[in-house]
Amino acid sequence: MHYLRRMVFCLLIITGAAASSAVAGEDDILTVLTRVYQTVKDNDAGKVADYIPALQKADPKNYGIVLATVDGDLYKQGDTGVEFAIESISKVFTLALALEDSGEDVILKNVGAYQTGLPFNSIIAADIRAIPLQNPLVNAGAIITTSYIQGTDSDNKWCRTLDFISLFAGRKLVVMKDVCESEMATNQHNRALSWQAKSSGLLQGDPDDAVVRYTKACSVGITCEDLAKMGVILANYGVDPLSGKHIISADKVEFILSMMLISGLYDSSGPWLLKVGVPGKSGVGGGILAVVPGKFALAVFSPPLDEFGNSVRGVQTAELLAGELGLHLLKSH
Ligand code: GLU
Repeated sequence: MHYLRRMVFCLLIITGAAASSAVAGEDDILTVLTRVYQTVKDNDAGKVADYIPALQKADPKNYGIVLATVDGDLYKQGDTGVEFAIESISKVFTLALALEDSGEDVILKNVGAYQTGLPFNSIIAADIRAIPLQNPLVNAGAIITTSYIQGTDSDNKWCRTLDFISLFAGRKLVVMKDVCESEMATNQHNRALSWQAKSSGLLQGDPDDAVVRYTKACSVGITCEDLAKMGVILANYGVDPLSGKHIISADKVEFILSMMLISGLYDSSGPWLLKVGVPGKSGVGGGILAVVPGKFALAVFSPPLDEFGNSVRGVQTAELLAGELGLHLLKSH
């Protein structure tokens, strides 16, 4: 029996809900997702991101959940085909490419693997915490990481990045032009971080080029279904369960998932680790990804954000599913 079906079957046996069912199937997994979806959907707390003007256009009612298993199954609820900007979740995949191109030592030496304890785009963190006391999932660290993606020129570096992110989604992704233009017009803060990193000798090449490619990566459009497919490759230690293709090595996946545990939900990574207990990554476009190694990926899309920049319904969905399915990596029973 597939892992997830077995898990849900056990769960339903325990709760008595499926006492008469000999084999739990897709319906049971969908039952759990539907229950969580119904519980969460009317939570209208949070606020759609507005510091990037184009993101304000997102519909706060949108809410989708996709669970993709390492067996290649996909379970969906709600608005799973709506396009949204990947935003910070792109940092996971640019890190993957930078690791392929430049290796772990370069990233650790120039970026680090530390929680900053400060907001994701903090200039102060990059200054008083004396970078490289950062990590690749906060803005300064992600921009430095982007600078270690190799290529013959800026275009080539960007094409390689987009192709690589697309490889995870299993389809050709494109940049959301309006989001990219809006973000380029308002990303002075990120440019400051990039130049600051350059002045500290940590960023390779042209700081403006690094921030442009970082911004384009954040503006890539994905759906909740794409995000689940991208995440399940990490859950499956680098192999795409659908195509069988080897996308990235297992040791790099270990590095990436560790970073997601350290800082995937920024300064609320601690509460996330306590309540959900698996590597996660959020983006201000409303996407959120949870990876359960060896088992499945959970993607949620819902634009209203909490004060930390994480999707309110996304966090609630992950917490409820973690409780229902017993996901915490350190769980003893
Ligand atoms: N592009 C966004 C920024 O640089 C990403 C932030 C996020 O999704 O958390 O501010």
